[in-house]
Amino acid sequence: MTATRVLVLNSGSSSVKYQLIDMADGTRPAAGLVERIGEPGAAADHGEALRQVAADLGAKGLGLDSPQLAAVGHRVVHGGTRFTEPTLITDEVIEEIEKLVPLAPLHNPANVTGIRVARALRPDLPQVAVFDTAFHSTMPEAAYRYAIDRQTADAHQIRRYGFHGTSHAYVSRATAALLDRDPADTNVIVLHLGNGASASAVSGGVCLDTSMGLTPLEGLVMGTRSGDLDPAVLLHLQRSAGMGPDEVDDLLNKRSGLLGLCGDNDMREIGRRMAEGDEQARLAFDIYIHRVRKYVGAYTAVLGRVDAIAFTAGVGENSAAVREAALRGLARLGIEVDAVRNAERGSVARLISAESSRVAVAVVPTDEELEIAREAYSLVTV
Ligand code: ADP
Repeated sequence: MTATRVLVLNSGSSSVKYQLIDMADGTRPAAGLVERIGEPGAAADHGEALRQVAADLGAKGLGLDSPQLAAVGHRVVHGGTRFTEPTLITDEVIEEIEKLVPLAPLHNPANVTGIRVARALRPDLPQVAVFDTAFHSTMPEAAYRYAIDRQTADAHQIRRYGFHGTSHAYVSRATAALLDRDPADTNVIVLHLGNGASASAVSGGVCLDTSMGLTPLEGLVMGTRSGDLDPAVLLHLQRSAGMGPDEVDDLLNKRSGLLGLCGDNDMREIGRRMAEGDEQARLAFDIYIHRVRKYVGAYTAVLGRVDAIAFTAGVGENSAAVREAALRGLARLGIEVDAVRNAERGSVARLISAESSRVAVAVVPTDEELEIAREAYSLVTV
């Protein structure tokens, strides 16, 4: 039996998501989620969660011992400057990923646990790490270097890395396919608007700039993260409000963004509240939209020529109101959304721009699992 299946593992800070994808026919024989790790009544830790995933798969006859399994593909959040491509996992690779924990303290430890447990369960199976940062490694230094003292920056690995890379890679390519264009000759602004959110400027399949930075905190307004702010705000909070680094971290990552602005981080709830005339929800929406528009303008300038703008992830794929507001009044930039197309719901990639729009506007559902599976599979089958 040929091994054509890839198990994709996404070990997040408090959950493990998995999908089993058959690369021969595109089917997904299994998918699932173990949530609330560490909370009462749930898996105690990531190790237990992973063993639960393995047991669930085993119960369906799809266990890690299956001869159809070609590889396990692990999503790893931070690859630093060390990992710019999908990488076959060895002991040395695990050590290197662990060295990056200071850059991603919530995520990389969970990712490493996922790798260790999967390896222990099936030591002979190739395991591949696919990094969230990798797609952005092509950014020119003018885009990735922060304008601070060089020595300090380099000593502490401070630079823009960018995240959601598998999504930006997948969506930029899928957008070119939707337009029936050669990806190598297509410039796309990708707006990944989920609970976390990021924008990227992709030229000919190569990332030129992205909104997230050293960590996923920079850039767009997100569900619970502030996105861009004057770095002096942090100093002010420390000096004037007496907050320590962990409190500032918690404030900016978990209690800011839409949640901090209006008490809700779910765009659906914000939409409901706006419909009832809720001013705070409206303001949160406006701040969110203002930031997206700024990045669309900035990346239009970075790319020079924009062929398409692609909306993806939970908000981007589902909120017609966000898409309409973000691109309203940009006809001078060649961007025109068709109201009827935009309002139609759908689960496949589709165009929502007007016929007269010079820039194609698209809704392109992301598929990070498929992208990870593809990358892992191509690495083990060469
Ligand atoms: P993540 O992967 O970052 O956790 P998702 O890409 O799944 O996030 O996006 C989740 C967010 O998508 C939710 O918080 C919600 O705000 C938004 N969302 C989901 N469905 C809808 C919808 N129908 N309309 C508006 N927003 C939606």
